[in-house]
Amino acid sequence: MPAPKDECIESVLPAKDSGNLVDDNIDVNSIKAQVPVSLAKLQQFKEATAADETLQTLKNTVLIVWPFDRSSVPLNILQYWNYRDGISAINGHLYKSQRLMVPINLKKEMLNKLQDAHLGIVKTQTIAQGLLVGPKMNKDIEDFIGQCAVCSKYRNL
Ligand SMILES: [Zn+2]
Repeated sequence: MPAPKDECIESVLPAKDSGNLVDDNIDVNSIKAQVPVSLAKLQQFKEATAADETLQTLKNTVLIVWPFDRSSVPLNILQYWNYRDGISAINGHLYKSQRLMVPINLKKEMLNKLQDAHLGIVKTQTIAQGLLVGPKMNKDIEDFIGQCAVCSKYRNL
C-alpha cells in the first residue's frame, strides 16, 4: 500500500534552518542580472516562495537530493522531475536554470505587470525570459495578453 502523500513529503523534509540554502556552484549575481525583478520585489518573492507549498517541497527536495526513483518524488513536484538537474535553491528563491520561479501568489501580479507595457505576446515573452511563471508560461502569457484590447491592436507590430 502506498504511503499517504503527506508522509512522502515529510520523509524528504530537512530539519528547519539547516543553513544549507546557498549552492556555491552558482553565481548569484549573474542570475540576478537576468531576472527582471527589483530587490524589494525579490524579498516579496522570498516570502511568497516560503508560503507556496509546492515550491517549499521543491526547495526541500533540491536542498537534500532528488529521490533516485521517479515514483518516490512527492506528487506535487512530479512536474519538475524531468528538468530537476536545472533547478536550484538560492537564498530562499528557486531557479530553473537562470529563471526565477514565480510563486503562485505572485503569478497574477507578475502577469499584470508584464501586461502593463502592452508589448504584445512575443515581446512580453522575451522580457519574461528571466522568470518562470509556471510550466506553461508562454501559453499563460499568450492567453493573458490575448485578452488585452490594446495588445491585440498592435499584435502584428
Ligand atoms: Zn496589453
